[in-house]
Amino acid sequence: MQMQAILVGVWLALAGVFPTLATAQDAPLRATLDTKEPGSMQGMQDWVKAFRARALAKGVTAETFDTEMQGRTYLPEIVVKDRKQDEFTKTIWDYLDKAVSDDRIAAGKAALVEHAALFDQLEARYNVDRAVIAAIWGLESAYGKVRGDIPTLDALTTLAYDARRADFFEGQLVEALLILQSGDITADRMLGSWAGAMGHTQFMPSSYRSLAVDFDGDGKRQIWGDDPTDALASTAAYLAKSNWVKGQPWGVEVTLPQGFDYTLAGPRTQAPLSTWKARGLLPMGGQEWAKSGWASLSLPAGARGPAFLVFDNFAAIETYNVADAYVIAVGHLADRIMGAAPIQANWPRDLRALTLEERIEMQHLLGQNGFDPFGVDGKVGPNTIAAVRKFQASAGVVPDGYASLDLLERLRATPVQAKAAVNSP
Ligand code: CA
Repeated sequence: MQMQAILVGVWLALAGVFPTLATAQDAPLRATLDTKEPGSMQGMQDWVKAFRARALAKGVTAETFDTEMQGRTYLPEIVVKDRKQDEFTKTIWDYLDKAVSDDRIAAGKAALVEHAALFDQLEARYNVDRAVIAAIWGLESAYGKVRGDIPTLDALTTLAYDARRADFFEGQLVEALLILQSGDITADRMLGSWAGAMGHTQFMPSSYRSLAVDFDGDGKRQIWGDDPTDALASTAAYLAKSNWVKGQPWGVEVTLPQGFDYTLAGPRTQAPLSTWKARGLLPMGGQEWAKSGWASLSLPAGARGPAFLVFDNFAAIETYNVADAYVIAVGHLADRIMGAAPIQANWPRDLRALTLEERIEMQHLLGQNGFDPFGVDGKVGPNTIAAVRKFQASAGVVPDGYASLDLLERLRATPVQAKAAVNSP
């Protein structure tokens, strides 16, 4: 179960970070996914030869390159995983059930006790709450238990050669070679998950290079070994750099007043807390309001699910991984580790997530009906959500921006006249 949670975490990371695969209105995404020829060991070795000059141009020495890139292993199972993740879909409640399980909460509480002295130092040095550091550790590696055992160079070389997301992975491979060149770690101990994330808190090589710290002062930034000191300090440094505000919540679960205007939800509508209070939002279950700050309203499962008023610390966690499900999982796990109550409102568990095909179809139909999602890529981002809202408003249903099966069926049932254009060449 832990490994599954980690892989889901990686999937969310990728879903959030990577650029869209296709943007043209009629791009046959499915074909793009299926037609790429399978790779081979020989093919990857040829790719490595061509890659050498590009790596050297980025500061990798010939000695480092020739030593580390010799005998790299092609890992076809990683390519399969990478291609499948676009199709793989999970609802936020299924994700949260695993991410914020009773076991993970209990292990987080134990970790805070076991490493109390280290967390004291991290809070003092970085001004970042210990609970959020622990929550990221818990989600990324089950508090260090599942750090990944795949050689990072093999994983990154395979994915850079596979070419589907070549630019990103080639960049990370260069960064990994520069880490080895710096002497912080040797290649045989540079291990991680299948998409290149490494150590206790699953840093990608570029994040490691720019933000990892040597907290214990031994001269090496050691995030891979059993001792979590440098890794947790690196995560604290990362959050500090992302403007974490100590003592402020990431978000507060709220109740909305009768007749609430759902067009006010979403990250694009920021307002001071006083404005949200005036609009009638109340904290759920007697929680305290944040003392100050701007906030926006998050409805991760639409009008039928829980509502969260989210503050600047939400954006700080987003820099680690932009997927809403991940950010809410980190924030909520941190709260639960500190003894807070579970999320109170019910999730709409009778709904299922849309498949990749359905999301693409939905974007097509939105565009054909005059609600431009600015790209048909199967990814439901802010533009698609805005288009969904406009369609919902025009159809007289609650404009919560949630892409449900019901919404897709409404789109399919729109007048034949409007849909005729879909089938014309
Ligand atoms: Ca160190």
